[in-house]
Amino acid sequence: MVLEILEIKKNNPNLSRKDIQKLVYNSFREKYNIASQLVIEAKTYAWNVRRQGRIDRIVVRFDKRLFSFKKTKRKNPVLSLRVNSERIAIPIKQDGAYKRLLEHLQQGWEITSVIMTKDLKFYTTLKKEFPEPKVMPNVLGIDVNARWLAVSVYNPRTKRWLKQLYLGKDISLKQMKYERRRAKLQHYKDKFFDSKARRKFRMLSGRQRNYVRTRIWQMVSEIIKLAKENYATIVIEDIKHLRARKGKINKKGRKKINRIPYGFFRFALEHKAMQEGIKVIAVNPKYTSQTCPRCGKRRKASQYNYFRCECGFEANRDRVASQNICLRASRLLPSITAQHPEAGAAVNQPVWSYEG
Ligand SMILES: [Zn+2]
Repeated sequence: MVLEILEIKKNNPNLSRKDIQKLVYNSFREKYNIASQLVIEAKTYAWNVRRQGRIDRIVVRFDKRLFSFKKTKRKNPVLSLRVNSERIAIPIKQDGAYKRLLEHLQQGWEITSVIMTKDLKFYTTLKKEFPEPKVMPNVLGIDVNARWLAVSVYNPRTKRWLKQLYLGKDISLKQMKYERRRAKLQHYKDKFFDSKARRKFRMLSGRQRNYVRTRIWQMVSEIIKLAKENYATIVIEDIKHLRARKGKINKKGRKKINRIPYGFFRFALEHKAMQEGIKVIAVNPKYTSQTCPRCGKRRKASQYNYFRCECGFEANRDRVASQNICLRASRLLPSITAQHPEAGAAVNQPVWSYEG
């Protein structure tokens, strides 16, 4: 259906989305004897890939009307799908993924759609509403950099640093090891067309990704725990600015930054924080590693990891960055801390903008 719609669009480029809908809705249902929802899905799909004019991945989405989970007489779970007037039941393998799905359903998640991919794997999309997270009086600032995560916890009322630590130093070391091994395999597989090297290279890439993601989830758990213990709102740097910063540095430097993938880290952090009722805000990261947290003076960008200021303050540059992230966020919440001086007081209404 998608290919046919692409052909129609190619021959009549002026057709709008609505025109196509009118054109194919009834004819396709008759021609293919298929559920009307799937015709609409095909049309949407074709519309989304109309510019490239071809399909790279075949994905079929079944919405709520087209799927249900049932049990056989022997109590085995099946996925029941409606493709036309009939339903087909697909047995479900009761593996780890299925158990995780059941756990989520027990925790109040709801399945909104089932997605079938080309290799006949089925995925579910889940949805759950969470209450607006509470704003806490202290701030926990995280600086994501090439080497590790620098974390600082600050109490804006007493102007005291409650905690200073680094997380994930092992990640960049292990990533470097993976990269060295991959470079070697890359050489073999390109030079000798070695299929064994190619297989190994793919396996290694998958293992590397799994390792990094597992470690990121672990670090996120540690951060959430720390935020809870210290009644802190979590503050990170805004990705928009980070991207701009990335573009400026050379290729080698860019590779370094990706050793702790910021995008995935932020996704994991916001995902988990939302479930735990903790607020995450993002501030502008400009000059965070070049400004003195004590006197506020800006230093020139230095290639060294150590920050020294005329006022006598000195610290690791990543620590300086995480402190400045805390200070920037706490400057945005004076009214909150004034209203609720005692640590632990939670305020429901956030009063600052996300832009910082
Ligand atoms: Zn200073």
